[in-house]
Amino acid sequence: TRTVTDVICPFCGTLCDDLEVVVSDDGKELLEVYNACAIGAEKFLHSQAKDRITRPRMRQEDGSWKEISYDEAIEYTARMLTDAKKPLMYGWSSTNCEAQAVGSEIGEVVGAVMDNTATVCHGTSLIAVQDIGIPSCTLGEVKNRADRILFWGCNPAHAHPRHMSRYSIFPRGFFTGKGHTGRKVIVVDPRPTDTASVADVHLQVEQGRDYELLNAFRVAFKGEQLPDVVAGIPKEKIYEAAETLKSGRFVIIFFGMGVTQSLGKNHNIDEAIAVTRDLNEYTKAAIMPMRGHYNVTGSGQVWGWLFGFPYAVDLSRGFARYNPGETTSNDLLRRDEVDAVFVLGSDPGAHFPFSSVKKIYDRPSVAIDPHETPTTEVCKVHVPVAFVGVEVGGCAYRMDNVPIETRKVVEPPEGMMTDEEFLKHVLARVKEIQGE
Ligand code: SF4
Repeated sequence: TRTVTDVICPFCGTLCDDLEVVVSDDGKELLEVYNACAIGAEKFLHSQAKDRITRPRMRQEDGSWKEISYDEAIEYTARMLTDAKKPLMYGWSSTNCEAQAVGSEIGEVVGAVMDNTATVCHGTSLIAVQDIGIPSCTLGEVKNRADRILFWGCNPAHAHPRHMSRYSIFPRGFFTGKGHTGRKVIVVDPRPTDTASVADVHLQVEQGRDYELLNAFRVAFKGEQLPDVVAGIPKEKIYEAAETLKSGRFVIIFFGMGVTQSLGKNHNIDEAIAVTRDLNEYTKAAIMPMRGHYNVTGSGQVWGWLFGFPYAVDLSRGFARYNPGETTSNDLLRRDEVDAVFVLGSDPGAHFPFSSVKKIYDRPSVAIDPHETPTTEVCKVHVPVAFVGVEVGGCAYRMDNVPIETRKVVEPPEGMMTDEEFLKHVLARVKEIQGE
């Protein structure tokens, strides 16, 4: 056996880059994974599953699957996209930027709506950034400088398990040599989470009252009067937490879907950014969304430079339009405005409302995914592909917008295509069909 070092974990937006993977000498078998958290290790090990699907499949009338060739899958996908008036091409968060770029060209050629998983997570954060900008930083700066950490509506202990040990609460950095003993940690969450249990302060905000509490922080920074209780928190605790933040040398606010997808949505993030801006009157402060999929940030980057918008990009009129609420996947599906669905690198079957999933089931649909998922179960064609970051490399963007080159550590099953290869074939076939 041999050990591959400095391997990147293609699971969450933390994109840990210190994994060690033991593979057989011929590079065909992956045997052990070191340094990853449980979910990261499982992703690598799952590539070795004996029951892994290795050939494309098409759903039959009776609901059963029939194995088809990659050529047939390419033909179905190309025909589906060219026949449709307005196809939805959704996902793009669990693949590399190279595949995202080819997918974007297909979207442009067929006039699709391109949307990624930000549509149900940090899309609201992106809207807020467009509204008022964002004072942010890298995770390296957090590790080396931050002595006040605020987690708002996120639970990294479960969603980003090594975030706290590598970047936020525990690591010893250049100016943070005392590790967690030199830091103060505040968690704002309606629930007593595992992250809250390691914090110095847990503010148990009333569900859906984040906007009020963020606003109260801005009042407290200025030392002005607050009502006795705001969002379920006594004012003394708010003044105290505000002082804790102001007295730090470097404050970082991390936030998650508890604020982006609860009452107030993008306005919560406007206010959280305003809190950060206000804090910079007293000390240095930055704010960062806790991005989930390992390359959702990259798909926003790729579309940002290609189309000017990070998600919900409607190309059906031959130019890029962006109007969240209108050009977002769930709105389009539920209003019957798309007539074919292509999914790659995401699982809307597990995360969209049932009414949207049913619409996917009713339409011509293709799911490109190494795993069997609730989405593959409702799609007409399932195309298994190599695992990005395990069986093929490529660029991914960490949650702080730092691009990192992922690594191939093991060979994919024989004859299996990568996302990028499959998409390149589909693009070529689409162009052929359009030329006929
Ligand atoms: Fe992978 Fe995220 Fe776990 Fe790091 S924290 S090992 S990137 S799943």
